Amino acid sequence: MFRFSAILTQVRISEKFIIVRNMAKNPSVIIVGAGVSGIAAATKLLENGFVNLTVLEAENKIGGRVCSVEFGGSFVDLGGQWVHGEKGNLVYQKVKDLDLLSTSHNTFSDNTYYLSNGSIVDKDITDRLFAIGMEIIDDKEGAKNGTGSVGDYFIKVFYEAVSKEFGHNENVLKIAKLLESWLEKFFFCLNSESWFNISTNGAHVFESCEGDQQLNWRDKGYRTILDVLMKKIPDATKQLPLDDKIFLNKEVSKITWDNNTTNFNGVTVNCSDGSTFNADHVIVTTSLGVLKKFHESLFIPELPPYKINSIEGIGLGTVNKILLKFPTKWWSNDLKGINLLWTEEDRVNLHKESHLFGPSENSDNGRCWLEDIFGFYVIDSHPRVLLAFVVGKSAPKVELLSDELVIGGCMYLLKKFSGWKYEIPEADEVLRSKWSSNPHFCGSYAHVSIESENKKASAEDLAKPLISANGKQTVLFAGEATNPSKFSTVHGAIETGYREAERLIKIYK
Ligand SMILES: Cc1cc2nc3c(=O)[nH]c(=O)nc-3n(C[C@H](O)[C@H](O)[C@H](O)COP(=O)(O)OP(=O)(O)OC[C@H]3O[C@@H](n4cnc5c(N)ncnc54)[C@H](O)[C@@H]3O)c2cc1C
Repeated sequence: MFRFSAILTQVRISEKFIIVRNMAKNPSVIIVGAGVSGIAAATKLLENGFVNLTVLEAENKIGGRVCSVEFGGSFVDLGGQWVHGEKGNLVYQKVKDLDLLSTSHNTFSDNTYYLSNGSIVDKDITDRLFAIGMEIIDDKEGAKNGTGSVGDYFIKVFYEAVSKEFGHNENVLKIAKLLESWLEKFFFCLNSESWFNISTNGAHVFESCEGDQQLNWRDKGYRTILDVLMKKIPDATKQLPLDDKIFLNKEVSKITWDNNTTNFNGVTVNCSDGSTFNADHVIVTTSLGVLKKFHESLFIPELPPYKINSIEGIGLGTVNKILLKFPTKWWSNDLKGINLLWTEEDRVNLHKESHLFGPSENSDNGRCWLEDIFGFYVIDSHPRVLLAFVVGKSAPKVELLSDELVIGGCMYLLKKFSGWKYEIPEADEVLRSKWSSNPHFCGSYAHVSIESENKKASAEDLAKPLISANGKQTVLFAGEATNPSKFSTVHGAIETGYREAERLIKIYK
């Protein structure tokens, strides 16, 4: 809903909406995007006396990739879900005393691995192999010595560690081989199509926060953080006056930032609905995917080469979630999740039978996408829902399939891998994300790719403000991809919103 009434007092309406500016005392700032980074920037500015703010959001709701949706009676997250870590995690620091997080949760390492031929793999061995994988992921120093892709690095170090611990135990090596592609999907395809695209450098520049990596939100999902940022929680009477500065369904189509032709030394922002906004500064918080797809048409004049290099060079992947609701809870209480391991024979057959779950045998939309779902997981807060991730090259393609095909494919997987153990009723509802095909996201989140390394593309360059003819930092950039060490996270995105707000605060103080 557009909130025009509140802004009428501060705008002169002609054919356009023009925000009254007063550079020295009351600088005007437009924030493009009301994801967590945009909301963080807005709240920090408000708290520091910047009242002339306008937040333009293309979707019909705030939050962006933090998207908590009611499904079957409780909230599930289609985007950001867990608070990853405690020490140095801004989200955790903000909410730790508010009783909003739950530490009782499923950990992926508790899970059992089911084989496609209908059997269970020795849990002691898979638990140990998983732990070896985790040790490699956590060994940042080791990664520093690695060159090339994480795929090459991981495979080498993984088999060295397996041989060291188990010698040439054929059974263990066979299981390790089966687990290899699962580990790729679990650890890395959440970021990119393939672990051979990701640079080992990304592994050691990424800064994880110490502590619990899978803290869940108790009640309404990760969107709770928006209320915390806006100070609606813990005391709604102290909330920041931001609601009436946020305009929904306002898709920004053009940002003219170096307008020498008029006397206006600020920025002009045009929206697809024909409205226009002017301000002294704009903070662009749109995702890397949006910048990759639209930067040429979005910025007038075009962006400088270093900025285009960073936009093109930083890696971006797609991961999607599929949530299945069942009429009854059919799994046992101790089940945390079903990890899917394909035997080579079944994998070959899957590729042969690709017509069953897609339009045609050779089509990209064939049945092979099932291979890119690595497991089904119990959600603590929801007794009848299982969560699956679809990763890798299938993730964007599955967005184009019908709900019926997706439910059918998931039921096939569940029955094939665990039908010998459980009587599984048909799922009656599906909810899924479509991060790639939504033009306001165009992907999930950033990573350091081999291409990033080759192009020397960096988050630092992506974050640099653009300086206009009058010497002012006019266009500022925030968003998860601009965080050099905490990209791909909610807390990393919030840090960038604060960073850009501080940049402006410093100028005017
Ligand atoms: C599937 C998935 C799972 C994840 N899981 C986790 C997790 O468990 N824990 C974690 O910490 N992080 C997780 N993340 C990452 C986290 O959600 C993101 O890093 C973070 O939400 C990004 O916030 P942002 O403000 O940078 O960008 P966004 O949320 O993308 O915000 C940008 C906003 O800009 C808007 N916009 C785009 N184009 C325009 C335009 N032209 N005009 C106006 N507005 C526009 C968008 O609609 C959006 O609201 C996950 C992400 C995904 C996709």
